[in-house]
Amino acid sequence: MIILMMGAQGTGKGTVAGIISKNTGIEQLSTGDVFRKNIKEKTPLGLEAEKYISSGNLVPDEITIPMVTNYLDSDLAKNGIILDGFPRTLSQAQKLDEILEQRGKKVDLVINLTTPREEIIERIMTRRVCPNCKATYNIKLHPPKVEGICDECGSKIIQRKDDSTEEAVNQRLEIYETKTAPVIEYYKNKGILRTEEVSVRINRLGQQVAEDIVKDLK
Ligand code: AMP
Repeated sequence: MIILMMGAQGTGKGTVAGIISKNTGIEQLSTGDVFRKNIKEKTPLGLEAEKYISSGNLVPDEITIPMVTNYLDSDLAKNGIILDGFPRTLSQAQKLDEILEQRGKKVDLVINLTTPREEIIERIMTRRVCPNCKATYNIKLHPPKVEGICDECGSKIIQRKDDSTEEAVNQRLEIYETKTAPVIEYYKNKGILRTEEVSVRINRLGQQVAEDIVKDLK
C-alpha cells in the first residue's frame, strides 16, 4: 500500500506516519530525514541539499526525485511505503504517478493534516527531534519523560536548524501554501484524499488521528 502524508510543517505528519508504520509494518520514508542524515554525514547529496534546506527552500527535483525513486525500488518499500514530505509540488506528484505506474503501482491513500496557522508556528518553535532515532517531541504538548532526552533511545534531543528561525519557518509555510496546497487538490480530484484536522482547539492530536486511520486500514 502506498500512503502519502500531506500537511504543512508542524501539523504532525511525522508523528502520524510513525504510528501508522508501527501498527501496519509499512515503512515510513521522510525525505526531510533523508536529507538531514546526508547533511550530517556530509555526503555530496547532503552538501548540495543543505544550501536549499537551511534557507527553507525546496531541494530541486533533479536531486529529490532520483533519491525517492531509489527508495521506492529498494527493499524498504517491499510492503508498500508511507511517504512523508513527498510530493511537495504538482510536478513531483505527477512524476510520482508516472514512476509508480511504470512499476504497476499507484497511490492508495493521501492523508492531509490541517492545523490553524498560529498553532503551527507555536508547534514548530517548540518542536524537538531525536537526531538518532528521529522521534519527535514537543516541549509543551508532548515532552520526553526526562527533559532533553529521547524516550526511545536515550539520545539528546535537539531543535532542527530550520525550526529555530522565524524567517525559515515563514518561508516554508509560504512555499507550502503556494506550491504544496495545489497537490492536495490533485489528490482530492482523484478521490483518495482523507483530510483530518489536528488541533488542540478541537482536542484532537496526531496520536488520535493515527489510531483512527490504523483502525480503518485493518
Ligand atoms: P521536512 O522535514 O519534511 O520539513 O523537510 C525539511 C526540508 O527538506 C524542506 O524544507 C525542504 O528544504 C527539503 N525537502 C523535504 N522534502 C522535499 C521534497 N519533496 N522536495 C523538495 N525539498 C524537500
